[in-house]
Amino acid sequence: MSFNVKNTVIKNCNLYSDKNGVKHIRIQARPNKWPENDCPFCHKSCPVYDKHSSKSTIWRGLDWGGILVEVKYQTHRIICPEHGVSVAEVPWAYPSSRFTKYFDLTVAWFASYLPRSTTSYFMRVDWETIGRCVNRTLHDLEPERSRILDGLVNIGIDETIYKKGHKYITVIVNHDTNTVVWASEDHGKSVLEKFYKQLTPEQLSSIKVVTGDGARWITDCVNEYTPNCARCVDSFHVVELAMAALDEVRKDIWHDAYSEYKQVKKDNPRGKGRPKKDDPEFAIVKAAKVHVSPQSPAYVPYVVAEI
Ligand SMILES: [Zn+2]
Repeated sequence: MSFNVKNTVIKNCNLYSDKNGVKHIRIQARPNKWPENDCPFCHKSCPVYDKHSSKSTIWRGLDWGGILVEVKYQTHRIICPEHGVSVAEVPWAYPSSRFTKYFDLTVAWFASYLPRSTTSYFMRVDWETIGRCVNRTLHDLEPERSRILDGLVNIGIDETIYKKGHKYITVIVNHDTNTVVWASEDHGKSVLEKFYKQLTPEQLSSIKVVTGDGARWITDCVNEYTPNCARCVDSFHVVELAMAALDEVRKDIWHDAYSEYKQVKKDNPRGKGRPKKDDPEFAIVKAAKVHVSPQSPAYVPYVVAEI
């Protein structure tokens, strides 16, 4: 099977260029006879509801060497006793998708490693399509999603902001697998309690370490639900706190140096004309000025940050 999908017959394919000069391969395909009336949700063979649509549906597949791949087929509807009337399943795509399964899965894989904008650019799909591709593949990627909360040992809790700082989201990561295991809108104790309340006693007892920032609501929940586990500040926040402390020290040093420079300048008033090279008073003022110049570590924040 040329595009790696079982139960599919390829009728023909043709290559063409659209009005923008982009090359396309259009594959005319159809499902095998025996699965062609399957329900897309329960995969059972069902009675036909109406005949094939007069208009073809086009699915986008993974590009072949920069050429856009399309699959064309005239769908029809079936009536499932359980799921009602729906478009019959096609083996190459998820229900209601206009992309092939491999396309959706590839987008989902990219989205888990790359920023959405990079995925969107590389896969030639718009930004919002990525979320829909990920949703369609969830069942295949994580068939037993409820088990994601089993055996958590080292977890991290943090909140982040989105919509330009207007909305919060609380995220919980499994440090051992480096994956997000739970997320919910908003933040605070009531939100975090929703996470803890859904855990079974076994799931709660497996948690040994909880990291997060110094927020009181995290500590309160940890003490209440997992009193025997260690609560610590994660490395990101340790570095952030250390940098903030260093920045305070840097500012103090700079202010002291600047006051000293002003005092030295006042004590050594400059006479008329250009000072001589070996003028001792000028040398004192010049030395004091070095500490408040843009080249001074106390003046340049990033120098401190690199120490
Ligand atoms: Zn069904």
